[in-house]
Amino acid sequence: MGKYFDIFINGYAGYAGYLWQEITFSGEGPWWHNYFWYLVVISGFFLALEWLKPWRKDQLRFRKDFWLDFFYMFFNFFIFSLIIYNAASDVVVNMWIDVLASFGITHTIAIRVSNWSLGLQLLTLFFVKDFVEWWIHRLLHRVPFLWEFHKVHHSVEQMGFAAHLRYHWMETLVYKTAVYLVMALFGFGIDDFFFVHIFTIAIGHWNHANFRVNIGPLKYILNNPNMHMWHHAYDIPRDRPYGMNFGISLSLWDYLFGTSHIPYDGRDIRLGFPGFETFPKTFKKQAVYGFSGLKKLRFNKIIKDNDGKVANKDKLVIKSK
Ligand SMILES: [Zn+2]
Ligand SMILES: [Zn+2]
Repeated sequence: MGKYFDIFINGYAGYAGYLWQEITFSGEGPWWHNYFWYLVVISGFFLALEWLKPWRKDQLRFRKDFWLDFFYMFFNFFIFSLIIYNAASDVVVNMWIDVLASFGITHTIAIRVSNWSLGLQLLTLFFVKDFVEWWIHRLLHRVPFLWEFHKVHHSVEQMGFAAHLRYHWMETLVYKTAVYLVMALFGFGIDDFFFVHIFTIAIGHWNHANFRVNIGPLKYILNNPNMHMWHHAYDIPRDRPYGMNFGISLSLWDYLFGTSHIPYDGRDIRLGFPGFETFPKTFKKQAVYGFSGLKKLRFNKIIKDNDGKVANKDKLVIKSK
């Protein structure tokens, strides 16, 4: 146990030092290898586009909940990693390696990509990671327990780039664990993520931004604001009770698996979900909402068991458009 505690402390201390080096450019790595300032520059870029050429012209420059989302951006990207995730994940990874080793498994790489060209590696990494995340996103909508946490992201009422990183920290755990386990099969290292990560942040900001450009047939490959707006629609078609347009960076998977749905330009559609009116509005309450929602799910299960009704009823109340 002492070993895991040391790993936790080292992971925590290592990340705190790393973050400070990022902010002050005092690290040893190249100056352009800097998550903190990329996030600042990409965010500033989309804020400027929203102000110069807004899609919804009547939306305020600092739209409803902008500052809440601004806080979420830095919380999810840095503070959560700083306080918990980075240190805890080092422990989990080491425990996982130890568990596998106790079964005699010391070699987890199924497909070794390290001898491929860098471009091919990054492209593969990007596609595989996005595909895994697309499935996770579907599960977040499909599994009632996970949907309680994913509601935080869907509680956005007015869309803007910063809404991209409004999500419950549980999502970080679910996404990162799944992606890590799959990436381990390919032998990808964490450093490989940098450019892919920066690119996905830029696309994610754009998907949520109050800014739109016509990308022509590229829309069948890349996710875009038009498509993602419908993902956030309050009213969901009856034949898609668990939602549509689950793409993260790529729209490709939704077209391939028949989960795409863009009936018309969704510029002014109502956003949210049934029951959203009573959803907590502050960060603190949203952070604990999913856990109290679990109790509600258990209660609904009891109703189902007694009356034969469907569990998690509020998820299934669907209004036709
Ligand atoms: Zn979603
Ligand atoms: Zn979204």
